[in-house]
Amino acid sequence: MVQSTYIAPSKFIPFSPPMIEEDDIAEVVATLKSDWITTGPKVREFERRFCEEFGAPAALAVSSCTAALHLALVVSGVGPGDEVITVSHTFCSTVNVIEHTGATPVLVDIEPDTMNINPDLIRQAIGPRTKAIIPVHYAGHPVDLDTINAIAKEHGLIVIEDAAHPISGKYKGQFIGSSDNPTAFSFYATKNMTTAEGGMLTGTPEFIERARIAHSHGMTKDALKRYEKGGSWKYEVVMPGFKYNMTDLQASLGLRQLDKLARFQNRRRAIVERYSRAFGLLPELEVPSERNDVSSSWHLYVLRLNLDRLTIDRDEFIEQLKSRNIGTSVHYIPVHMHPYYRDKYGFKSEDLPVTSTNYERIISLPLSARISDDEVTSVIESVVDVVENYRRREAHVR
Ligand SMILES: *Cc1c(COP(=O)(O)O)cnc(C)c1O
Repeated sequence: MVQSTYIAPSKFIPFSPPMIEEDDIAEVVATLKSDWITTGPKVREFERRFCEEFGAPAALAVSSCTAALHLALVVSGVGPGDEVITVSHTFCSTVNVIEHTGATPVLVDIEPDTMNINPDLIRQAIGPRTKAIIPVHYAGHPVDLDTINAIAKEHGLIVIEDAAHPISGKYKGQFIGSSDNPTAFSFYATKNMTTAEGGMLTGTPEFIERARIAHSHGMTKDALKRYEKGGSWKYEVVMPGFKYNMTDLQASLGLRQLDKLARFQNRRRAIVERYSRAFGLLPELEVPSERNDVSSSWHLYVLRLNLDRLTIDRDEFIEQLKSRNIGTSVHYIPVHMHPYYRDKYGFKSEDLPVTSTNYERIISLPLSARISDDEVTSVIESVVDVVENYRRREAHVR
């Protein structure tokens, strides 16, 4: 037997550390020392810059992607009696917001290669009460937007894109967020760029104007317009709106992060290339793919285990990596398997076979602009070491 020379890294490598640099900190401090710390000039500038960067028709900065998704549903008039088609293979908030409106989520299965929503199954799920579709650009790989938009047009449905992952990703040469579909981005701490917490809703100018009223108590004037010189104290409440505004503290961080996003993205792609070159050699592993007509933002690097070639399951694989100082995560526990949804709708795990079987074999590896070349080497060597220790040697014998 060959003696392994593997040595685990001495320091824990986290799954997705945020990339905050001195200029980010200086910008937030400068805003703190200014006269305006909540929704004001920095938020307006962040919205304008975001539109410029991604060709969005209009944008509204909000407190989270979850808030953006909820707003998009409310402004689209989704409510009790309606059905909204989405995936189970997503973060729970994609589905929770449908419940918030009183509408019924209809969960469909995913495609085996991208793990994105399967358009054929959207067609099968459409009924007389269907009002909207929420496709999720999983891991940053854009969904098949042309097909989904065509289905929606044919049946008079709204498409709201969950774009928590695909910032700076492109579908057929166009940035995600540049279409007229309401599109919800996240700047949560683990995302490709962060404002600690925060989100952006893009869409047509008319749609965003209505969302702007709904995101701030249903008031017809925002605070800046009321409190700046020449502003008026008068406003009207035209609906019972929400408190979903972003602060200037968050927006100032977002502006600096946006400046650096191209560099972050190049770094992510370089890490992904190293991972896939190494793991593509091992039959025990399936590396993520990118279709020809898209550019992924590589929010996640989701490695899939070929479990029939290993003597351990995914959970044990994660434990083995943890013992080697490698942080990982799983994206996601399918929504239909969580108690609330399982009990309310009577889902069984086999109802969505592609979602359920992939759930058993996915691991998200460390991926962030913060991860160094040495750390990438350690992650690769650690994964290879686990595979070498737990490969099923009789796999090829019938
Ligand atoms: C992170 C995430 C969200 C929620 O984003 P927040 O900004 O934390 O509200 C929604 N959907 C997906 C797919 C996510 O990954």
